[in-house]
Amino acid sequence: MATHPGSGFDLTPPSPEQRKRLEADLTAEEANVLLHHATEAPFCGAFLDETRPGVFTCRLCGLPLFLGGHKFESGTGWPSFTAPFDNDHLREEHDASYGMARTELLCARCGSHQGHVFPDGPPPTGLRYCINSVSLDFTPDGEPLPDRLGRSAPEGEPWGGG
Ligand SMILES: [Zn+2]
Repeated sequence: MATHPGSGFDLTPPSPEQRKRLEADLTAEEANVLLHHATEAPFCGAFLDETRPGVFTCRLCGLPLFLGGHKFESGTGWPSFTAPFDNDHLREEHDASYGMARTELLCARCGSHQGHVFPDGPPPTGLRYCINSVSLDFTPDGEPLPDRLGRSAPEGEPWGGG
């Protein structure tokens, strides 16, 4: 299994011990969304108005999932992006819950729920990645990314420079 995609990040899932430790660190609301696929209430997420350049990472395992530069104001009440940090960092699954046909987004490394992707976004991708704030952490440009699994980031920081 290829665990190092083009981005260079190690996508090997957390060990059971690591997962236990990471899950114990979540608040009840974070656990509800990340582990039980809930959706946070709109217009109250911590990152709704975050506009700085930087990297949004998985709240559970720390994998980079989105760049601040891809964020746009969708009017939906959830942080929205036109593109992922890297296609290999997100896993898509068909979601037929609530009588809707949607594409669910999961962290490719730890499997935690992030949100959904819809085909009604702005150019250049036409995609709208609609993500829960509680599923994410934000690291402004110039600060070190979280390293929750004790794996150093790849050399060269290809995402850097804002
Ligand atoms: Zn993750």
